[in-house]
Amino acid sequence: MEHDSADDRGETASVASDRPVRTGASVRLEKLDKRFNRVVAVDGVSLEIEPGEFITLLGPSGSGKTTTLMMIAGFETPTAREIYIDGSPIVATPPHRRNIGMVFQNYALFPHMTVAENIAFPLKQRKISKASIAERVAGVLDIVSLPGYQRRYPRQLSGGQQQRIALARAIVFNPRVLLMDEPLGALDKQLRENLQLEIRRLHEELGITFIYVTHDQEEALVMSDRIAVMNQGRIEQVGSPIDLYDRPNSRFVAGFIGESNFLEGTALDGGAGVNAVRVGDDIISAVGRNDVTSGMAVVLAVRPEKLSFADNRTSESPASLNRLSATVREGMFIGEVRRYVLETAPGLRLTLKQPLRHSIRHYAPGERVELEWHIEDTRIVSIGTD
Ligand code: ATP
Repeated sequence: MEHDSADDRGETASVASDRPVRTGASVRLEKLDKRFNRVVAVDGVSLEIEPGEFITLLGPSGSGKTTTLMMIAGFETPTAREIYIDGSPIVATPPHRRNIGMVFQNYALFPHMTVAENIAFPLKQRKISKASIAERVAGVLDIVSLPGYQRRYPRQLSGGQQQRIALARAIVFNPRVLLMDEPLGALDKQLRENLQLEIRRLHEELGITFIYVTHDQEEALVMSDRIAVMNQGRIEQVGSPIDLYDRPNSRFVAGFIGESNFLEGTALDGGAGVNAVRVGDDIISAVGRNDVTSGMAVVLAVRPEKLSFADNRTSESPASLNRLSATVREGMFIGEVRRYVLETAPGLRLTLKQPLRHSIRHYAPGERVELEWHIEDTRIVSIGTD
């Protein structure tokens, strides 16, 4: 069933096709600042979001994610600069004129209204005809996989179902942008994982621009086309999940997305290609950077799953590998992998994650081992006084 109407949207696009209609808007944040008295919540945030993109603002508590979302929605006014939707400035436009849907963590359904009344609410505000409302409510309930739930009250629904209804209410008026602030935060792990996939599917189906807020890196990696990592009111890095994972450009991103070992050292040379770095008594090679020069203090990052025990590998060319001797301090089974803590020098500990395979031998605390890993998996994430 068609859940949209060109008339109701005041647009001329034909929507009576089986194929999803790409109706997402572009969103551009231009040097946004938001201060609350002395607190700088958002500090010069610029971001270009493509029409129909699924972008996630990811960061720890207090990093400015919600404030950024609230400014896009229109519930907060930036202290400085502008937000553009499809190229038009919108800071002066009130929230209900922005054609933006929003879902919060705590569902925010009206408890005294039925599901149908809850979903109809934004349509009534927009003076849509009664007949069209009933049709659209039914259509959107199909989309969120709760057909026939019109007469239930929120208290008769599970948390996951309530959040689906909140989603239905946020998309029923055909917004071109959907904002979601930790929408799965209150749900248990299993349900959260199911709904993550469902929200992704919904994004594919609707073709609108999704801007999603979470502090959960796994959720961001699973769901997003791109992730903007926020820290202390600023965007640290923007990229695809794989970009951020494989090529973090700061210590913060390397530590916040996935797990990283950090090695502090001194660069022996600089420039693109490969940089040699002295770490204690050892020389480690890293992916080179143009902004690194000889003598500079640097921090290297290596993911625990990129490290391996030398005798478990065969066909690698030694020239492409780093090697370090270490002593095993701990080895622990933690589910999908065995996790080792290794000491490479007094006080310098690295974590290694070893996949569980029958052919792989385990190491006991106290054993001396050789570690190796690819130079390409060794990144300089901080230089000088960063
Ligand atoms: P969380 O994940 O905990 O929701 P967040 O990344 O969404 O965090 P914000 O809620 O945007 O962060 O808050 C950013 C900073 O702005 C915090 O230091 C917060 O205390 C402050 N802040 C947010 N709203 C207000 C307000 N209305 N008045 C004063 N300070 C505020």
